[in-house]
Amino acid sequence: MAARLIRVTGIVQGVGFRPFVWRLAQTLQLAGWVRNDALGVEIFAQGAAPALVELLARLRSEAPVLSQVEQVTAQDAEPEACTAFTIRDSRPGQAMTAIGPDVGTCPDCLGELFDPLNRRSRHAFITCTHCGPRFTVTRSLPYDRPQTSLAPFPLCPSCEREYTDPSDRRFHAETTCCPACGPRLSLVDAQGQMLAGDPIAATLALLQSGSIVAIKGLGGFHLACDARNGQALARLRRRKNREAKPFALMLANVASLLPLLRVSATEQALLEGRERPIVLLRTRSGADADFPGVAPGLFDLGVMLACTPIQHLLFHEAAGRPAGTDWLVVAQTLALVMTSANPGGEPIVRDGTEARTRLAGIAEAFLDHDRAIVARCDDSVLRAQGKGFHFIRRSRGYAPVAMALPMAGPSVLAFGAHLKNSVCVTRRDQAFLSPFVGDLDNAATCDFLDETVQRMLTLLDVAPEVVAHDLHPDDYSTRAAVEFAQRHGLPMVAVQHHHAHIAAVCAEHGHAGPVLGLALDGVGLGSDGQAWGGELLHVMGARCERLGHLRPLALPGGDRAAREPWRMAAAVLREVGRGAEIEKRFGQEGRTIASMLAKNLHCPRSSSLGRVFDAAAGLLGLCSHMQYEAQAAMLLEQAASRHIDLHGWPEPLAQGWVIDGQNCLDLLTLLASLDGAPDVDRAAAVFHATLAAALSDWVNQAAVATGVKTLSWGGGCFLNSLLSSGLQLNLEQCGLKLLRPVRSPPGDGAIALGQAWVAMNQQEP
Ligand SMILES: [Zn+2]
Ligand SMILES: [Zn+2]
Repeated sequence: MAARLIRVTGIVQGVGFRPFVWRLAQTLQLAGWVRNDALGVEIFAQGAAPALVELLARLRSEAPVLSQVEQVTAQDAEPEACTAFTIRDSRPGQAMTAIGPDVGTCPDCLGELFDPLNRRSRHAFITCTHCGPRFTVTRSLPYDRPQTSLAPFPLCPSCEREYTDPSDRRFHAETTCCPACGPRLSLVDAQGQMLAGDPIAATLALLQSGSIVAIKGLGGFHLACDARNGQALARLRRRKNREAKPFALMLANVASLLPLLRVSATEQALLEGRERPIVLLRTRSGADADFPGVAPGLFDLGVMLACTPIQHLLFHEAAGRPAGTDWLVVAQTLALVMTSANPGGEPIVRDGTEARTRLAGIAEAFLDHDRAIVARCDDSVLRAQGKGFHFIRRSRGYAPVAMALPMAGPSVLAFGAHLKNSVCVTRRDQAFLSPFVGDLDNAATCDFLDETVQRMLTLLDVAPEVVAHDLHPDDYSTRAAVEFAQRHGLPMVAVQHHHAHIAAVCAEHGHAGPVLGLALDGVGLGSDGQAWGGELLHVMGARCERLGHLRPLALPGGDRAAREPWRMAAAVLREVGRGAEIEKRFGQEGRTIASMLAKNLHCPRSSSLGRVFDAAAGLLGLCSHMQYEAQAAMLLEQAASRHIDLHGWPEPLAQGWVIDGQNCLDLLTLLASLDGAPDVDRAAAVFHATLAAALSDWVNQAAVATGVKTLSWGGGCFLNSLLSSGLQLNLEQCGLKLLRPVRSPPGDGAIALGQAWVAMNQQEP
């Protein structure tokens, strides 16, 4: 007879961990107890020594699907006078646990949802300890029902029985409910009038007749319409004032995709994963052929599978309400556009009243319910890469999962970047990146930043000791950080944007040593006051040295040049001494720009690689005016892919680049070669091949000069798969160790993590 006191940390509350331990103890014939406390889960177990050893192993290997066990530690204990194994009440205290992310409906719940005899048959709020909402319905810790938006729905006797039965999968499922005691669906029209009939059936009928319906999801409303109805789609684009930016599609399952797309095993796993992100998939013949108007001119479609019970029920309805789950793997014809209801780039709409105001004139009906969304959370977007993936946006399903850091430090609150903002809070040796906040260019999103900061601090029970922010003094994120720090009397750390990109990657890899940093993006304020965006850095924790940069290009008209690639093309022509051709190429407007360039009037310079991509797309005639961010770079990558898919990678352009004595990388020869290229796809491919070769040459020279053999890369340009795969191939041949963003996005969504890492390192003695 032996006894052990065991501690388990990580995401171990609200995920069915205690009943799991209880069942394990029954199997192993152990006595004792289990309880939640502020540090996680505490277990006292006594019984045969081999059974205790087995318990420790199975705590990790068989942990519930939504748990994330970080540490299991055990110490010998005095045996107690107990014969059974019990679940004890929680012990309060300062929280060291974390709230889990929201996830899609689990297979067990789906089985009940489509079982006509189950008491939760077609119940739109079905959930258990293995699935459903978490982050978006929780006001504060501890994670108990009164702290969630299920608080107004007392459990009925049947639900209560399940909730208190350790052998039931709804034991302490804080968001559980049933048709007798749970929230209710409602379908209302634009005037707020309740529409008659079954809300699911009526919503489907509206969608199938071409209506635009706002549908409440986990982290906010989506605007939905039939993806095969060109008129509905055109109306949605017109009303959303969204000319060409691609929409995401929702389908029932992977089988429904197969006639349209190749889906790799990795992509299938991502689509079917419980996080249910939007996955960017390459279509066979261009998105326009299958879904005209969904992603005009693009080969990539953003696709997600049904995630919530409401979404599953819409597909179930369209399939004719079959009994059982067999239909879940059979191809279904229904395809819905599901786009975030975030008019004007403001935060996603979260409640019904707000929806009817903010979506007035867009949605014709609203599928709503009375389970409140406490926190907004946008869909995550990612793309498969080899056997893994990279984030384009890390939000629902992933935030706020902790990232382990290699050392503990003071709690840092980092306010992030101006665009694609998210914030980051550290607690001991963990970093928590918030859900996506958005671009801080409107008051509503700025308010959302403040709200997110408060929410992260509340949920993590952290009082920050240091505040980190961007160098740019005028950004709202910086002003909010300064205001917070002054109000709480905290020290502040300003972190240069590209240093933060590299630091974010070091943080998620737990790499404390020196690295070369390749930061490639649109723009960030440099430590010299200039606009940076193509930087070679030497980073060591809190220290950062700029080793080199791309040759700065003029941006005729400043910010407008970032939206009009033809202006960047003109700047290149001028730079290579062909300014006289600008008017011929670009007409009357070209003449004005040529004269601005000649006089160096309102032509700030930037070392941004993003603007180099724009210039290339402009010179190749792929895009003159952008309708959405990064459109030019996407069209350029797509053109290059068309060539590479057929013919493989071309040779880089000989002497296409120069690295001067100041370690400045000059790509003008490459850019100038694109002008008037007869084969646009091939020229785009040569551009990517040469760029990858030039960057790897640049990095290599720095590796030799500094003796640093590890390269970290970050910045939005790495969302370009051709650039990242091409560069990786080149670098591997040089024997450099590569650290790239895996659990955080390459773009500005990771800036807060990098800021936090720098601030933590600066606090080291
Ligand atoms: Zn479930
Ligand atoms: Zn109930």
